[in-house]
Order: sequence, then structure tokens, then C-alpha cells
Amino acid sequence: MTELKQTPFSTSAGRACLPQEIDTLVVGAGQAGVAMSEHLGRLGVPHLVLEKNRIAEAWRTVRWDSLVTNGPVWHDRFPGMEFPGLDPDAFAHKDQVADYFEAYARMIDAPIRTGVEVKQVRRNAERPGFTVETSEGVIRANRVVAATGPFQRPVIPAIAPQSEALLQIHSAHYRNPQQLPEGGVLVIGAGSSGVQIADELNRAGRQVYLSVGAHDRPPRSYRGRDFVWWLGVLGLWDLESVQPGKEHVTIAVSGAHGGRTIDFRELAGQGITLVGLTRAFEQGVAQFADDLAENLARGDENYLSLLDAADAYIARNGLDLPEEPEARRRFPEPVCVSEPLRQLDLAAAGIGTIIWATGFAVDFSWLQVNAFDGSGKPQHQRGVSSEPGVYFVGLPWLSRRGSTFIWGVWHDAKHVADHIATQRKYSAYRDAAQRAADAAGSPAPASLTGVR
Ligand SMILES: Cc1cc2nc3c(=O)[nH]c(=O)nc-3n(C[C@H](O)[C@H](O)[C@H](O)COP(=O)(O)OP(=O)(O)OC[C@H]3O[C@@H](n4cnc5c(N)ncnc54)[C@H](O)[C@@H]3O)c2cc1C
Repeated sequence: MTELKQTPFSTSAGRACLPQEIDTLVVGAGQAGVAMSEHLGRLGVPHLVLEKNRIAEAWRTVRWDSLVTNGPVWHDRFPGMEFPGLDPDAFAHKDQVADYFEAYARMIDAPIRTGVEVKQVRRNAERPGFTVETSEGVIRANRVVAATGPFQRPVIPAIAPQSEALLQIHSAHYRNPQQLPEGGVLVIGAGSSGVQIADELNRAGRQVYLSVGAHDRPPRSYRGRDFVWWLGVLGLWDLESVQPGKEHVTIAVSGAHGGRTIDFRELAGQGITLVGLTRAFEQGVAQFADDLAENLARGDENYLSLLDAADAYIARNGLDLPEEPEARRRFPEPVCVSEPLRQLDLAAAGIGTIIWATGFAVDFSWLQVNAFDGSGKPQHQRGVSSEPGVYFVGLPWLSRRGSTFIWGVWHDAKHVADHIATQRKYSAYRDAAQRAADAAGSPAPASLTGVR
């Protein structure tokens, strides 16, 4: 295989052709692709990263205008570089995150080609490796790492009403309040995206209804430490699988306005009308489940359990962190919770927009290999897939709860790169006969040097 030598992040204008062969091809140059490149580079694995848009494109163009990170920058970063010019406890704006990854890729001299889409990957018949069709020609690769992101395809549930009178968008397409037509907004989904968008619209003077399902709601900070610190020291980022019953539980946190605890009762006090899970739409009337109080109670339980665990940790370790009894204070029960709306006539309520903050799915239609189960879900162990030579990074719960997060993907990428380096070592092994043949200047047949 030829070693790849080229300028990082070359774009299509005036650049050399893609190499015909590469040992490891990484698809996608978001944070997952950049992390892969760092670890592969350190291990001396010849590789190429292909990115169909720009580095960290999702942070540039698939997020709303005001978004800042959910975690402070001392935490939400790679180990090799701090966020330049930001206080460690600050929350980075999305453009600063994109700039960070561009600068990081430059720092590690990552061999990234932007503006090249991988259209199809197929396993080679009767020989090792993969044939990769790209928008700029075909490449042969021994290995392929899918770093195309955890949140690729916005999901809008089938219950969405068919109505010309309403603007309906997914949270991935929300940018700012001015983008929406006049009138009220129903935000469906109250994870980090939904709750932050609802808050922004409410602050902009819109009438906002927020449909709240099951959620976790950690305190922004407690006893002088941000929740990301608490999840770290309590081992909660490292949980290896979703707790049973929590498969559809979102996490409501925000770094907006300097970082504040999400408290739904407080938001209601500020004017947002909370409703339960949205079940259906019938002739312009939204139907909500009778579960709002229960969803809030579960969120409170989750919130209080973290405070309790933090207190126990402080006591056990004799830490000198200030008491914070006010963290257990509850905002008054708003009317929308004690007398919840079970249905809402959208036109009568003046609602012109529905924002679906209902999550994302992955799309691996380009990856035509045996790495998926019957339902199309990637089959892998810590990113090492069931198709030898195919890897995933950046997927939810790839190895742990932190896997989709900036800091977490870096560790997963390290594991995947280690696996690749180890497999290369097996491939490079030459037995005594082969070594003797090499020494005599007549290399053993290629069939003995197959690549796993
Ligand atoms: C609203 C929101 C806020 C978030 N906030 C935080 C936060 O504060 N902190 C945190 O740690 N995490 C956060 N995350 C989670 C996570 O960090 C981001 O989703 C991040 O973008 C994931 O990085 P990635 O590299 O895995 O995927 P992506 O950033 O999606 O990158 C994948 C790349 O692959 C490219 N690609 C896809 N298909 C192809 C193809 N066929 N050929 C070539 N290129 C291709 C895409 O163009 C893209 O650039 C947030 C997520 C969302 C949705």
C-alpha cells in the first residue's frame, strides 16, 4: 500500500487526485473523524479522512444560531488542546467548536480531504479489503471507519399532522425566532434541544407550548462543581449501557446564559405552557398524554438522586465543598401542571409552528457490508464491527454514555485505532519460511500475506 502524502484539508479546486489505495479510510471529519486521525497518526497507520462538506460541518450549519456547548470547555474538548481565549468554565459557541476542530486538525496535520463524499463501500470478493466509491473516484482500502455522526437524519414521528397552515420543522432546521412565522409555537420534545429552543422562543416573546416526555434533569452545578464533573467522579459517564426503562429518556441540560439548571416549573413560571407527551393530532387538535406530572416527578427524582450521590461522595472523601441547601428548593407548581391541558386546538391557540425536537437516526445506506443486524442497527463491540475491517466511532453508547460527546469520542477512537494497529501487526507477521524467502529476495506469494 502506498503511503499517503498530501496537504491536509485540501478542497476540490486545484488539488491532486485521491490516492488509489489507502490502508485505513475514515469517513467523516467531525470530531469523531478528527479523533480517529489523531490516534491513527500516532500509531503510524497510513490513513485518509474524507469529508463531504467541511470539518465539523454539523457544528457550523446543523445547529441553531445561539447554541453553546452543554458542557464547559475544560470538559468538552480533546485532551491535546484547550479552547483558545475561553475561560475553562465557559460554554463555547457552536462556531467556536467548529473552529476548535479545524485548528485541532491542523495541529495534528490530519490528512483530511474535504468536499469528497463517500457514496458506497463494498467488501471485495475473494480478496481482502473494500472498494470505496467516492464523488472523486474509486479507492481501495484495507479498513473503513464510519465516523459519520450519531445524529444524521432528523426524525419526525408519523403522528405529524398534514396541515398547510402550519410550519413544521425539526430542531435540526431551527435557527432563530425570526425565522418562524408570527404566532405561537408548539415545541415537541424537551431534551436539551427542545428545552433550549422553547426557552429562546419564550424570551423572544412567543407564546410557547412545550411537550415534555420522560427526561433526566441534572443540576447545572451543585456545591461548586458542574454536573459534568459530578457525572465523571460518580462514574455515570462510564455507564456501559442504557439502564432498562431509560431507552427513551432525554437529558435536559443547557449551557445557555452562562449555564443554568433546567427546571420545568421555573420555565412555566416564565410563561411557557407545559403539556404531556404528544400522542396524536386529530383535525387540528393536538392530543397530549396525562403524564406531565409523572414526567416532572421522575425528572425531579433524577435531579435529587444526583444531589444525594454528590453529598455522599463529598462526605466519603472528606471534600471541603460549600453546602447548597437551596438546590433542593422547589418552584411552585404551575397551573399547567396541576390542571394539565389534554388537548389543544392549534388554530384557536394561534399556533403557527410546530418544532419537532424528537431526535435523529443514523443512515448507513452507503456502507454495504455485513456490519448490521436485521433491523439495520450497527453490530459492533466498542466500535469493532461484525464485518472484519469495518469500524464505527461516535455512535450513541458505542462504549459508554459519553461516546457521542466531544471528550468521549476521543477515547473510543483511541480504542478503535489500537485495534487497527494490532490487526496490522498480525497482517505484517511473516513466518520462518516467508522470512527466509524475503531474505533470499523472492517474496512469498501474496495469498500468504492477506489482510484481515
Ligand atoms: C444540538 C446538539 C448539541 C450538542 N451539544 C454537545 C455539547 O455541548 N457537547 C458535546 O460533547 N456534544 C454535543 N453534542 C453531541 C455531539 O458532540 C455532536 O453531535 C457532534 O457533532 C458529533 O460529532 P461526530 O463527529 O460524531 O459527527 P458529526 O459532527 O455529525 O460529523 C460527521 C461528519 O461526517 C460527514 N459525512 C457524513 N456522511 C458522509 C459521507 N458519506 N462521506 C463523507 N462525509 C460524510 C458529515 O458531513 C459530518 O461532517 C450535541 C449534539 C447536538 C445535536
